[in-house]
This record gives sequence, C-alpha cells and structure tokens, in this order.
Amino acid sequence: MSVSKLHQYVSHQAERRPEATAVVMRDERLTYQQLEVMSDQLATLLFKSGCKPGDRVALMLPKEPQTIICMLAVLKCGAAYVPMDIQNPAERVSKMVTRAAPSVILANKESRDLMIKMRPYLENDNLPVVGWMEREEPGLTDYTTAFTKPDMQTINKPEFPLVSDGDQMAHILFTSGSTGTPKGVMVTHDNVIHFVDWGVRYFDITPADRVSGHAPLHFDLSTFDIYGAFAAGAELNMVPPDIGIIPSQVARFMEQSRLTQWFSVPSLLSYMARFDAITPDSLPHLKRLIWCGEVFPVSALRYWMYRLPHVEFTNLYGPTETTIASSYYTLPAIPESDDEEVPIGNPCDGEELLILDHEMNPVPDGEIGDLYIQGAGLTQGYWQDDEKTAEVFRTISADPDFDNHEKTWVYKTGDLARRDENGLVFYHGREDNQVKTRGYRVELGEVENGMFRLPGVKECAVVPYQARGMDAKAIGCAFVMEEDQQAPDLVKLRKELSEFVPSYAIPTKWLELEKLPRNGNGKIDRKSLTQKIENYAPVSHS
Ligand code: AMP
Repeated sequence: MSVSKLHQYVSHQAERRPEATAVVMRDERLTYQQLEVMSDQLATLLFKSGCKPGDRVALMLPKEPQTIICMLAVLKCGAAYVPMDIQNPAERVSKMVTRAAPSVILANKESRDLMIKMRPYLENDNLPVVGWMEREEPGLTDYTTAFTKPDMQTINKPEFPLVSDGDQMAHILFTSGSTGTPKGVMVTHDNVIHFVDWGVRYFDITPADRVSGHAPLHFDLSTFDIYGAFAAGAELNMVPPDIGIIPSQVARFMEQSRLTQWFSVPSLLSYMARFDAITPDSLPHLKRLIWCGEVFPVSALRYWMYRLPHVEFTNLYGPTETTIASSYYTLPAIPESDDEEVPIGNPCDGEELLILDHEMNPVPDGEIGDLYIQGAGLTQGYWQDDEKTAEVFRTISADPDFDNHEKTWVYKTGDLARRDENGLVFYHGREDNQVKTRGYRVELGEVENGMFRLPGVKECAVVPYQARGMDAKAIGCAFVMEEDQQAPDLVKLRKELSEFVPSYAIPTKWLELEKLPRNGNGKIDRKSLTQKIENYAPVSHS
C-alpha cells in the first residue's frame, strides 16, 4: 500500500479491517477503527485550539496507547509531534520545548509535576496551550487549558485541513547535544515511509504479525514499531515501561503476547542472555529478532541463536539523522566463535553508505574510513540549529570519482567503517565523544557541561570505560575540586547533576583527582584517564 502521509496507514487499515487490533498494552486494546475515530476527534480539537499545518505539538506523555492516538492526531493536523522523555530533568525538557516552540502541549497526570517544574524556564510570551489527555484539568493555573479528554467525545464530525506534502516534517526527535542543549532531528513523512515500506517488504510483515513495541516513544526505533505495524495491518504490542529491562519479565511478555517480531537495542538482549532468560526452543511464534543502535556482542547473539533456531536474526544499523536504519544484515548461520565479526551489512533500498577519507575521497576496500550516509532516509538536519546541521550534514560531489559538479546531501555519522571484498560494511567504533550506554545515545560533552555546573567543581572530564563483566560501555568521570572545598559529598553531587542530565547519563564512577592528566600540548589525556577510571574501585561504605 502506498501512502504519502504516515497516518494514512491507519486510515487504510480502518477502511479494510476496522475490527482488527492495532495496539495492545496490558488490558487495553484498540482496533484500527478506534484509532482512526479517536485521532480524528483529537485532530479536530487540536485544530480548534489553533494548531496549524507546520506547527509543532509537544507530547509530554507516558508510553501508552493513548500517546499513539496523539501522534496520529498531530499528523492529521499537518503538524509535527515532538515526543518528550518525561523522566528527563525539567530544565532539559524545557530547553527542548523552548526550541521546538510548540503551539500545543499534550500532557496528562504523569507529566503534571514536570509541567510545574518547567514553568520558570519557559518564556511568558508564546506559552503553549495545554490539551490534557485526562478526564479533568489538573488545576495548573499557570497554563491555559485548551481541552480535556472528554471533549473528544463531543466531536461528531472531524474538521482539520488536508495537507498533501510528503516532504513535510512528521516529528522532531531530540538527541544528546555536546554543548548541553539537545539537538532536534527533523524527520519527514517521506523519510519514515521510505524505511517502513522497505522494512515491511524485507521482513514480510503481514496482518498476522504481532510486533513488539519496546523502545521508548522518543527513540526512533519506536517509529518502525508503530508505523511498520500499521503499514502491514499488524498488531503492535507495547511493552509496558515497568517491565522495561527485567529479563524474566521481558521473556514472559514475549511468550504471553505470542510475538512474531522483536525489535530492540542489543543491551537488553545481552542482559537477557546474561540471566539465561530464554528457554531452549521456546517462543514458538517468534519469526524474527531485529536489533539496532549498538553492537550486539557476538557471544550474546550466539546464545540467542542457539536457543531459538527457528528465528531469523537481523542487525540494523543507522543513526536517527538518517531515519531508523540505513543498512541491514541477516545472519545466514550461527557465528562459529565469539570472535567472528557481524557486519552492519548492505544499504537498505534507496540508501548508500560511503566510506571516505579526510579529503572526502572513497577509501579502498578493506581500509577503515569515515562513514557517511546518503539517500531517502536522510533527514533535513537539526531544528533551528543551522550551525550543528552544517557540522555534520554536507554536500559532496555526487559522482564516486568526484569528477563532476553535481552535489549530493550526505550525513557524517561520526562512525568508522570498512567495506570488505564482498561489499559488506563493518562497524569500527566512533571517532568522537558520543557513546551508547544501555542503548542511550549520550554526548559526553553534555555530561561535562552538567558537571561544570556543580558547586565546587573546578575541572572535570567524562569518559566511557569498559565496566568489568559488562559488554557495553559505562560512563565515568574524573574531577578536581576548588582548593577551598571540603571533601565532596558524592551523593549530593550525583543528585545535583540529575537536575541537568538524564539519569542514564549520570556517571557510574566518580574519581576525585588533584589535577587531571594532560599530554604534551596541554590537552586532557583521556586515554590515561580512562585507564585510571577502569582500574579505580570505589570503596563501598555500605
Ligand atoms: P541513534 O541515533 O541513537 O540511533 O544512534 C546512532 C549511532 O548508534 C550510530 O551512529 C552508531 O554509532 C550506533 N549504532 C546504531 N546501530 C548500530 C549497529 N547495528 N551496530 C553498531 N553501532 C550502531
């Protein structure tokens, strides 16, 4: 089925199979017809509240089926939704809201306290109105209430403008920014539709499928969960956030929901392998297991493949900036040893992976270079941030031999890669200060920025380190206190840092030093610091 707007996937299914289940979470089940009707009603309320095509609507909502209705409603209005992580500190969320400048905020009781804490950071002019996805207004006099949930039932006839431009922004996904302000990636309908159509075709997703919805709704992985399911007319099974990463509970969820497709970051899958959460030959319904976002350690992958020989395993690779994923690799067989390398594979249809040297010339096969991506998934850059956009979105000569003048738009991923003689691409880590920790993308600069704001901290550096017994990287910090300061209270410092950075970005090791190690040119010697932090075993006072 071909569509020009994401919400049309739902409209099509509602026409053909209105009673089919679209979304399930716990005891809640919504059919395609219900999704269609309720998102029409909400779109009408948004429109009547002043939301126009091209506007942004901030979603300050938890992960639940109702939030999916909100996404569709915003799209129907021709606006773009901006999903927020409501567990983030108020100051950080306020920065994103200020930058997005939404005309409406959709919120509920779970974000009520956050809304109160955010108020001092928001400008008085242009304060967005709030649509409360609740039965009653929560009595926040500082914000103007546009509507509450029961108002949806008063709408009998949908009324919102029809917008046909597929190049239009569908959502803004914020990701960590090295200066402390998150960057908002502008993703269009076309960007997502292109990947979703490829994914549904490649994985052969059908109306009989029950697909997982594990990623939080502000992660781009969730975009494939949602629209992949809707494009195929399948059933989206949202994993309740409280099950989150508890291995036995996730396994039980997969079993009880009779999932046919699982898609998540590898951190969770490794964690489940560590806890031996999968019984051999269990999950008979599962057809495919897909991961994206970080390296899946081969030892854990082999565990899964031995346990579930009937399942197909696919590695997807790609940054948010190029929409969900840009390359794929389905394993033809179980790797023979833990040392075997699993490629990030071949480009998805309409995408291209370029491996270039510093002069932007292609490197020969077998050599490591900078990985650039071009193609249909390439987004329009960062919302209202031309400087950051210009740093990583570039135009280069379109011809591989670079002897013509045609230019093409590419994204510099910051990843290092090599291509083998069969054309398969392999990932070789990053060349900058961006890390993945438990599947979350963190710019170490953002954490350092927060550290510098802690009272008494004179100098600091934040580095990734290899935590003992863990596959993924953890975040550590070293800091120097001002001379006149007493011994730092780490519990207090941690708590204060949590006012500025998300909880997953708070360093797990804190090393106080008299001075930071520096190399010949005066730069902080991050290599030696990483070693120090790796070897540092904090004394437990418990
Ligand atoms: P995000 O924007 O959160 O999806 O993060 C994008 C970054 O995650 C990429 O630039 C890579 O560094 C890393 N990444 C994504 N997928 C993979 C993968 N399959 N294998 C290794 N690293 C990955």
